[in-house]
Amino acid sequence: MNSQDLLKRLDDDRIEFLWVAYHDYNGRACAKTIPKRNFAEVVEGGVVFARANLEFGVDDHMAADGIWQAETGDFLALPDPDAYWKLPYIDNTAIVFCNMMTEDYRPFEGCPRGTLGRALEKYAARQISVTAALEAEFSLYTKTADGDYLPSRAGGMFTVAGLNQFADLMHDIVAALESMGVPVEQLGKEYGTSQFEFSTRYSDALAAADRYLISKEVTRALARKHGQIASHMPKPFAEHGGNGLHIHLSLFDADSGANLLAGTGLADPLSESGRHFVGGLMEHAPAICGVAAPTVNSYKRLQPASWAPAHIAWGVGNRGVLLRVPDVNQRCRVEYRAADNTCNPYLLLTALLSAGLDGIDAQADSGAPFNDDDVGHFSDAQLQDHGIEYLPRTLPVALDALENDAVLMAALAPVIGGEFLKVKRMELETYNLHVHPWERQMYLEVT
Ligand code: GLU
Ligand code: MG
Repeated sequence: MNSQDLLKRLDDDRIEFLWVAYHDYNGRACAKTIPKRNFAEVVEGGVVFARANLEFGVDDHMAADGIWQAETGDFLALPDPDAYWKLPYIDNTAIVFCNMMTEDYRPFEGCPRGTLGRALEKYAARQISVTAALEAEFSLYTKTADGDYLPSRAGGMFTVAGLNQFADLMHDIVAALESMGVPVEQLGKEYGTSQFEFSTRYSDALAAADRYLISKEVTRALARKHGQIASHMPKPFAEHGGNGLHIHLSLFDADSGANLLAGTGLADPLSESGRHFVGGLMEHAPAICGVAAPTVNSYKRLQPASWAPAHIAWGVGNRGVLLRVPDVNQRCRVEYRAADNTCNPYLLLTALLSAGLDGIDAQADSGAPFNDDDVGHFSDAQLQDHGIEYLPRTLPVALDALENDAVLMAALAPVIGGEFLKVKRMELETYNLHVHPWERQMYLEVT
């Protein structure tokens, strides 16, 4: 669609309010609502936001050392007509995702969507097309009178009982997304307490990130209508399963459509490019964590032997590794399992694809696959014997790894990498200064 098509669509859909949205470095959807009278102006010219908005953490505190401050002006959020959806649960309202532009309509270098676009251009220049599918887990809660969160009991793993209990909500989510033109692949009851899993059909990488983000909004909004809080937080409770975001990546020859990752079968699961692509993802794995698992809570999920990876390894059909090859035939692809839903998916895909391409260029070695062992159960001696490293165990380690990774920082250059780190380190500092209830329980009476 072009801007004229979008205006016609707004008219046909009888839209009165258009939410013009972008995603900040925390992955939060930020928007202004625009009344019908201004549609033409905004669809052609965008909406003004302060650049300094990009220096904000999820607690709405601003990084004091950021390059964008009160005096550094604005960017324009320019609607992408291909990222438009009518919201079926709010009357006469639609949302559109934007590219960030400078005030003289050049691409703004702080734009996460634009950054992914640049990473994809590098593949396009080599006649490689990239498809992605994002698979998100979330769990349902209600709030108690004292403000705590209570997991909503919902059957066991993949049970009909679990689906049955929230069938109205799940069907509302699926029906809403299908009506919006977002093809749902599956929605099922997962194994964590009150946990569900949602996936949209694979598509080109930018559309995959867009569809994932809109699905998340729809899930949360409809859950509220059903009296539930849908949370994608990585590890809401220590004793319950975590919520992951698994990213399936495929590379195809843009001309012939041939699968560029596929090898010849189980004995030789990946092509030479595939092995290098996986090698690149392994080599840059610590730094990727800074983008993929960017909160303190993320590292409470990435525990050994939890089906969420804690080590750097790959394997075929193995849910205990960081990089799973789910299928060795024509649907051969690589599933990255360390990400969670606190990431910005545009930045995550940029990091993953840049690491993979570096692996192809540098002919990085993937090493041997682990098909039959959950490496999370390996002893330290076994890990050492097999040369398996841990992923970062905490956020500061991951952020330092990102800062020191020239390939990833170049992919996020010239400004996003640095500002992202400032926002995240500010969040980390808040956490470090906070006295957590656990500390009182642990130390107050024994000292
Ligand atoms: N919940 C697990 C995670 O945090 C993944 C479970 C699965 O394989 O679907 O990544
Ligand atoms: Mg799952």
